[in-house]
Parts: sequence; structure tokens; C-alpha cells
Amino acid sequence: MNLTKEQVSQLLHEAAITLFADSLEELPPRQQYQALAFVVKGLAGPTWAAAKHGADERGQKQVYYFAIEFMPGRLLASNLLNLGILEPVEAGLRDLGLDPAALYAEETEPGLGNGGLGRLGSAFLDAMAAVGIVGNGNGVRYDQGLFEQRFVDGYQVELPDDWLRDADVWETRKADRAVIVRFGGQVLLDRDRLGQITPVYRGAEEVFAVPYDTAIIGYHQPRIDTMRLWHAEPVPDAPEVLTAAARARITAITETLYPDDSNLAGQELRLRQEYFFVSAGLQSIVAHFLKYHKSVLQLPKYVAVHINDTHPALAVAELMRLLLDEHHLSWESAWQTTVATLSYTNHTLLPEALEQWPVDLLAAQLPRLWQLIQEIDRRFRLRYTGPFGQLLVDRAAPVVDGQIKMAALAVIGSHTVNGVAKLHTQLLKTQTLKELATIFPARFVNKTNGITPRRWLQLADAPLAGLLDVQIGPGWRTDARDIAALADKQDDPAVLDALIAAKQANKVALAGYIQETLGLRVSPAMIFDVQIKRMHAYKRQLLHVLGILEAYQALRAGEKRPPRLHIFAAKAAPSYTYAKDIIKLINTVADLVNHDPAVNGALQVAFLPNYNVSLAEKIVPAADISEQISLAGMEASGTSNMKLMTDGAITLATLDGANIEIAEAVGTSNIALFGMTAEEVAARRTAGYDPAAIAEADPRLKKSLGMLIDGSLPLGSAGHTIYESLLVDHDEYFVLADYASYIHASRVLDQLWTDPHGWAAVALQNIAASGRFSADDTVRRYAKEIWHALPARGGQEKWQN
Ligand SMILES: *Cc1c(COP(=O)(O)O)cnc(C)c1O
Repeated sequence: MNLTKEQVSQLLHEAAITLFADSLEELPPRQQYQALAFVVKGLAGPTWAAAKHGADERGQKQVYYFAIEFMPGRLLASNLLNLGILEPVEAGLRDLGLDPAALYAEETEPGLGNGGLGRLGSAFLDAMAAVGIVGNGNGVRYDQGLFEQRFVDGYQVELPDDWLRDADVWETRKADRAVIVRFGGQVLLDRDRLGQITPVYRGAEEVFAVPYDTAIIGYHQPRIDTMRLWHAEPVPDAPEVLTAAARARITAITETLYPDDSNLAGQELRLRQEYFFVSAGLQSIVAHFLKYHKSVLQLPKYVAVHINDTHPALAVAELMRLLLDEHHLSWESAWQTTVATLSYTNHTLLPEALEQWPVDLLAAQLPRLWQLIQEIDRRFRLRYTGPFGQLLVDRAAPVVDGQIKMAALAVIGSHTVNGVAKLHTQLLKTQTLKELATIFPARFVNKTNGITPRRWLQLADAPLAGLLDVQIGPGWRTDARDIAALADKQDDPAVLDALIAAKQANKVALAGYIQETLGLRVSPAMIFDVQIKRMHAYKRQLLHVLGILEAYQALRAGEKRPPRLHIFAAKAAPSYTYAKDIIKLINTVADLVNHDPAVNGALQVAFLPNYNVSLAEKIVPAADISEQISLAGMEASGTSNMKLMTDGAITLATLDGANIEIAEAVGTSNIALFGMTAEEVAARRTAGYDPAAIAEADPRLKKSLGMLIDGSLPLGSAGHTIYESLLVDHDEYFVLADYASYIHASRVLDQLWTDPHGWAAVALQNIAASGRFSADDTVRRYAKEIWHALPARGGQEKWQN
């Protein structure tokens, strides 16, 4: 899109008058941001409108990505970049005396997800638009996003995230596309005059599902996809007047995001959320499809529906319901059509995160779906018990012991199932979903996760992006694989110096933010050692803390080490007390080391509150070390490992998730690996494990553990809980088993740091090898091998204004 800075100025002034009846210069920054966002939305509008009809008219297959979480991050700068107008707009703003970065910071980030899952969904939408796949997000418009985190006395405190207070400029309410979703009541099966079985609903609760659409702009492409989020409201003009309680029950469905992405939230409300966005999404897809096509049997030819994690797995039964009850297909045709339309990504190996619903709960809320799930289960058992035996089929079936297993439902009802890293897919096939993989071996494939280098490199890391332009030309901006050309420069001292300078600029910026936020003065000359992710025992932030306490003792004993700043950011689920104890621990250790003159300047800890996408954008470009230290076999893939690698951090990692593929990509000499493999962990589990003996044999470790309970760290009960989790409750996540090799690997990095060009050469190799983790390639592989939805050829579209 072409735009001059003079046009930018004119459009902004007009928007200020239209929106706020005031001149731009008089507006507070928040409203200046809104005016700019309004201009950008207007610029994209005509192309968005055309895109919606274009795909249908061309007969191009569409992908619908169903996810209960999305984490788009702030959209303004990303939209400007994707539209190709970042430069003229920033120039125009500066001419007006406005600071672009300050305006971007006025945007409220939609926190409609917990972590990696939601961020992946948003990266995929951005990537689909970039490579020309007609993609649609389908999710939930929560009134309250993930809580805002503050620390009070080192403890996490959660504040509500009222992200819609000022209205969201990007969304468009589409009241005319609303559909009705039904819960509860009774369903009787009747026969109509033609003898067709038809369900008759009695006393169901009706919920009005209203979509809100947000444009997902394709990078430098005249293509715009859509993220559609559903909002629950009472049905307008319903014949019966609802009580206040009945209204509240309805609006509660989309009131808040569940702030826990792993443990099963066994509440009715969660089930209602899941069915709500699945039913609304599928109803609108089928209705839209039938405007352009005659028979629902054609659905899989034009539509791919992707189930991201099990939360939307009810799609299997809901699509069956639509095809059987509303479009009167036979069971066999409906089932064939359903399986050919759906595909499923599994995201976890944690047994506690494998969703299941009690039959009673599901049957009461979704009586018709329960009938269909029973029939799916019955037919599954009938078909496979002969060839595979009762025992295996019992373990694989969706209805077992009064529970409905959502992963099983998703696998049985999908044509393809994928894991999100090579190791994860292998463990799915051999452990977590072993029985289903035995029955459907061809269904299981791997699709390693990806990230968008536009957000993490082009936008978040301008110094490195500029360096790449100079060194290898700007081709990497459209094809991330081109970053590989950087590898040839590893012996060029001028390039290494430039790389060091780029990193330094980012560290200076982050140091400023740390000072502002925590009042902590840090030196950009230190090693910035970063661990940013959800707080969870399996991710082992605790191992990192034990590493800090080891360094603390070493420094107090007079050892010399390169100065290191340990940077954390992480939210804990409000009900996850152990994770909150670890937060308290990190803050307490920070207090100790940051105030001890004996280690001053050599060791510091900064725990930045309220981890979200915007905070990650500040931290990732400034990182020297990327801590990816989960217990092997537990992290499905990870994506912060990819972001940090892309921006030139060196990974300190276990052989878990995508870390293994990072090691393959960079070579083992360019990554600091440590710890047990997944196989060794499994063997250790059966062989027995004595953490106390490990602690006893290592004086420094013993001292660190003692500090948890001897009063040197004022931790209250948190210290005892953590101490006991390791030494009494057998250290479920093998923190102590990996401790010695972790310290060793970390010391190897200390050694490397003393050679700045040596360090920079390793960082350079990491950047050069990061292209393969671009989400653009990931979604291309999904499109080719799962969705069978080819990207549009170039040249068919043009900008509409
Ligand atoms: C990338 C990202 C994650 C995922 O981090 P992992 O270390 O892969 O778990 C979580 N939260 C935010 C805000 C992110 O940007």
C-alpha cells in the first residue's frame, strides 16, 4: 500500500475530528493512538471486505482455526508493518511531534490467552495471511482477559484485566451474523412426516452468540484474514423475560478467561465456554458455506476446521449434530464428512491436562451432544474391538468410567492429528495416545511449532533487523529462510562487533525499563540470562533459582565470575499455590542478592511483573542466554526458545520439545545442553531416585536448600513447601538430578562470555539457523499436509484503495 507522510497527517487530523471532535494536537496520547488505529483500520477496510468474498468466489478452500485462546499482542505496529506503511506513518508522526513508540504503548494488549497456546494461534493467523491461506480464527471474546499481575511483598497479586474499558478499536461487532446456541433442557427424538428422526428440544436455555471480527493483515500482501471471537448475550426480543440470574448465567459464558492452561478446570462454566464458541463457529461456517455451495457433502472440499488442543474437541459431535439434525445426512455420510473436515493438534503430555468431562455434567448441559457421543463411542467399539481387542479399545474409547475423554473424541473424529515437536509427536504415539495411534497409525504426524519473525525480529528487534539488511540484504523479511546467509559472516570481526552493538542497544533499553519498573539499576555489560514463560513446576524455574544461589555462594566465597543479571517473567495460575511459592522465592532471592554488597555488580535478579506479549517484546531482543530447562519429556514444544534464538540468545537447555530441533539446527557446539533425556527420565522413574543423597553429596547445593528453611531467606511457609517438595516428596520434576549438569553447562557459558567474539559467533549461528522456525513455513506445512488448502497464487488480488 502506498501512502505519503503528508497523507498520514491529513488522515490523522480528520480522524481526530471525527472521533473526538478535537484537534489532534489537543488529544491525550491514548486518543491519538485511537485516532491512528482508526485510520489504519479504515485503510485496510476495503481490502478486508473484498477478501471475504474473493475466496468464496474463487472457490478457494478456507481454514477455520478453533482455539479457546488467542494472544495477538498489540496490533498497531504489526498492522502498519504488514500493510507496508510503517515508515511513512512513523515519519508522519515525527513531523507532527509525536513519538511512534509512545503511541504504540497506549494500546491495551488483548490478554485472551494464558501463554504458548494462545500465542501460537495468533502467530498462525498472522502467518496464514502472510502466505495466502484463507484463514479464520474462531474463539472467545472474553470481557476480562488474563489477570494483571503485581507483586506485593514478593507475592503475586491478581488484578482484573478490564481490557475493553476504552473499547477495542480493531474489532467490529457483527450483530447480523449472530447465531443461537442451546444448553440444557431435554431432547426427545421424534419422527417427522418423512420418517426422518428429528430432535425436539424442551426447556433449553438459548444464548445469543454475537461475533466480533478483527482483521488479520497479510504481510505486504493485499490479503486480509479474519479472527472471529464470539460474545454471549441474552437473545434479544425473546418471548420470555429472563430473570437477572438467568441473564447472568448467560453473560458469564464469555466474562472471563480461565487463568489456567494446564489443569482441568472441572467447572460447568468451562464446558459451556467450550461448547459456546464451537457451536457458534460451526453453525456460522455451515450457513456461510451453503450460500455458495449446494450440498454439505462438499464441505471438506472447501472447508478445513482445525481443533487446537482439546478445548474445541466438541466440534466432532457438534458437526455431526448439524449434519444429521439440520441437514439430514445419514450417519455414515455425516461421519465421513465430519472426519474429512476436522483435524486436531495435541499440545500436551501432562496427564493432568488431558481434558475429560463427567458424563453427568455433559449430559445435563448438552443433552443432544451426549446422545451423539454415546453413538460415536458405541460405533467405535463395535468397529475396532474385533481387530484390536477389548482391552486396547477400552483404553482408546471416548467414554470410559463415566468420563468423556476429549483427546480421544478429537482423534477419532479427525482425519489428521499432530504433535508440536518431533519428540512430542513421538511420545504421543508411544505413550500418551498409544492405543489410538495403534488403531490409526497413519493419522499421526508432526508439525513443529513456529513463531513470526515479523513481530519478534522486524518489530521487536530493529537493531538486529537493520544489521541483517546491511549484511545479507532485506530478502529475509519476506522469506525467513534467507537469514541462513548470515552464517557465512561468523569470522568477520566487523559483523561480530555490529552484532554485539545491536544486542547492547537492546540491553540498554531493557535496563531502562527494569530501572523504571523495579527501581533496580543494572548494567547492560552483564550477561542477560532470561527465563520467561508460565510459572510451572515442570518448567523448573526452581532449577534456575538453585543456579543463582550456587553463584551467590561462589561469589561470596571470593570466586570471580562474569557479571550476570537473571531476568524472570511469569504468571502463576491463581489457584496453583506451588507456582506462587516459587514466585515468592524468586522475589526473595532477588531481594537478598540485589542488596548484598558482597556480590554487587556481579549478580542481580530482576523479576518483571505482568508477563505478556508486550513485555516479551522488550525482553527477548535483550537476552544473551535463553533458559529452556524443563524436565525432558514434559514441554511439548516451547516457542519462547525460538523467539530468543531468533534474536541471538544462546540456549541453555534440556533435550526437550523443540530444543532438540534447535540443537539439530545450530549444531551441539552452538547450544549449551545438559540434563537427562526423556528416556533417561523414564528409566530413572522406574529405577528409583534419591534426591536427598544428591543434596547430601554437594555442599553448595546442600547450603542452598538449607537457605530455604533456615531463615536466611524470609520465605514463610513457601520455603518449607519447596524444600519438602524436593527432599520429602521425591522431587517429582528431577530438579536435583539435573542440578550438577545444569551448573556445569551454565559455567561453560561463563567461559564463553570471556571471549566476546567467540560468544557473538555462536549467537550469530543461532540467528542464522532460526529461519526454519518461522510460522510461515509451519502453516505452509499444515496447509499442504493437513488442511489441503493451497495458498492463493500471487497476482490475483490487489489493494482496494
Ligand atoms: C511465546 C510466549 C509464551 C510461550 O513461552 P514458552 O516458553 O514456550 O512456554 C508464553 N507467553 C507469552 C506472552 C509469549 O509471548
